[in-house]
Amino acid sequence: MALLAALTVLPATAAWALPVTPPVPTIPPAPPAPPAPPALVVRRVGPGVLEAGPPPEASIVWRRSRALGRPNHGRLVRGVELPAAGTHLVTVDPVTGKGRNPAWRRNGTDRLVRVLLRVAEGYAAAHPDAPRLVVGDLSRPRGGRFGREYGGDGHRSHQNGLDADVFYPRRDGLERIPTRVAQVDRRLAQDLVDRFVRAGAEYVFVGPRTGLHGPPKVVMTLANHDDHLHVRVRPGSRR
Ligand SMILES: [Zn+2]
Repeated sequence: MALLAALTVLPATAAWALPVTPPVPTIPPAPPAPPAPPALVVRRVGPGVLEAGPPPEASIVWRRSRALGRPNHGRLVRGVELPAAGTHLVTVDPVTGKGRNPAWRRNGTDRLVRVLLRVAEGYAAAHPDAPRLVVGDLSRPRGGRFGREYGGDGHRSHQNGLDADVFYPRRDGLERIPTRVAQVDRRLAQDLVDRFVRAGAEYVFVGPRTGLHGPPKVVMTLANHDDHLHVRVRPGSRR
């Protein structure tokens, strides 16, 4: 009983016994930090091959681009160059099918380059064992005609920085252009189409033999697209 009585008075006693909090000394502001070097990343550059260094995306010269005219009759102003290879994507020369795509074939609006990088990053996170995105042509540095005179089959569009070709992922995991529709990993290819739709693409063109699909006003079948999808973003700067 005596113990219980002691316990009931304890809170009041303890409250009175609390020490007064001393004033907090003011901390002088820290000197400005030096600019941080670009973060090092380890990335896959081939089957079983790893490479460390600053991410290639860190070297992108971003600027507010303008897409003039139309995709099949237009120009690109202040285009942004997509790196030849990035952490989650790699370009391939569609004319030879070998090697990286030359710089003059991979220029787009800042929005197009941002959409490609963002989709590639999300896709890699969802499929860590899948090959990187294999990207073909965008536009020439100042846009304009990109027909057969520039090699390969050429393009009617790809003239104002809004269009990009992305080769479907291969079932064998090679970062190369598929040569037959049977080589295409349908599940991964469909996921890629869905991601471009969610990223706000105006159109995604897919091949009639791929079986790929999506919202009918956005995803459309088009001849000569059985090895790659063609994504078109809307004009305007970053989003
Ligand atoms: Zn195309």
